[in-house]
Amino acid sequence: MRAVRMTAPGVLEQVAVPTPTPGPGEVLLAVGAVGACHSDLHVLDAPAGFFPTPITLGHEIAGTVEAPGAGVTGWSPGDRAAVYGIIGCGRCRACLRGRENQCRQVPPGGIGLSRDGGLAEYVVVPASRLLPVGGLDLIQAAPLTDAGLTPYHAVELARPALRPGTCCVVIGVGGLGHMAVQILAATTAVQIVAVDTDLAALDLATRMGAHHVVRADPDAVDRIREIVGFPPDGADVVIDCVGVDATLTTARTVVATGGRLLLVGLGGGTLPVRPVVDAPPTLPLEVSVDIPFWGTRAELQEVIALGQLGLISAEVQTFPLDRAPEAYDLLRRGEIQGRAVVVP
Ligand SMILES: [Zn+2]
Ligand SMILES: [Zn+2]
Repeated sequence: MRAVRMTAPGVLEQVAVPTPTPGPGEVLLAVGAVGACHSDLHVLDAPAGFFPTPITLGHEIAGTVEAPGAGVTGWSPGDRAAVYGIIGCGRCRACLRGRENQCRQVPPGGIGLSRDGGLAEYVVVPASRLLPVGGLDLIQAAPLTDAGLTPYHAVELARPALRPGTCCVVIGVGGLGHMAVQILAATTAVQIVAVDTDLAALDLATRMGAHHVVRADPDAVDRIREIVGFPPDGADVVIDCVGVDATLTTARTVVATGGRLLLVGLGGGTLPVRPVVDAPPTLPLEVSVDIPFWGTRAELQEVIALGQLGLISAEVQTFPLDRAPEAYDLLRRGEIQGRAVVVP
């Protein structure tokens, strides 16, 4: 079969590999769609040895069951499923509480991270990673497993603060951010303020339910404050889907006293924390900061439900398998609207 693999650190190419065989408890899935995630760029850029090579990338997968392995019950050929990409150790305190996204294993185990992923015609996954998607389009189902699940988990963490009439600022309207806007619109009664450098992304945010959009230029903080209020008022919740120094500065500057800051984007920026009262604070008092990672299986089931109800849907740009490397190049240059989805 054809697969797009990281054959060496930084090298992504399509190669021919044997079609894998499912072991006991595993399922062979015919890949219907696989999202191209920013995290894959971090995998490609990681130092040699941090991730195994060669490895087939792709951790945002939906497909059709081709062959269940020995001992698998409940799944038959032709069943359509989304893949929960995390593979926790199953033994640590976090895994035992159903929070495999907090598994103590380093680096995190996952499909397309610690074993072959979905950028291929077929992928083998543990049957425990499959969730049924019914009649949901697989091109829509795939992005739900990460681009949908990650902001959903962030919103879940902040939900007690997302009271009707409060303000939530979403910074970065890319693959995750445009889903965050929809999840907020579908599950809360908050004022949604979307921030991005790109005008097309702001148009997308408006279509997805943002009440206000702000171009990320040097005046952005002033314009956000005109909407959310001036210190010590501000945004009750800020979700930063970018995570570079500039967006973290905006985030901590517009968050209200007692607000919640959720750092979803892995952009490599630094958030300074200097707890003083006699100088301009780096963060308002009583602010809490979360660094959400992906989400739980139970949350993915809820995200799929939102998709099936038609309340959220990814804006997708599709690519055939042999053009997957090009999709990642466009992603790296910030030229993907919504989510790039590869259709093997
Ligand atoms: Zn991802
Ligand atoms: Zn664990």
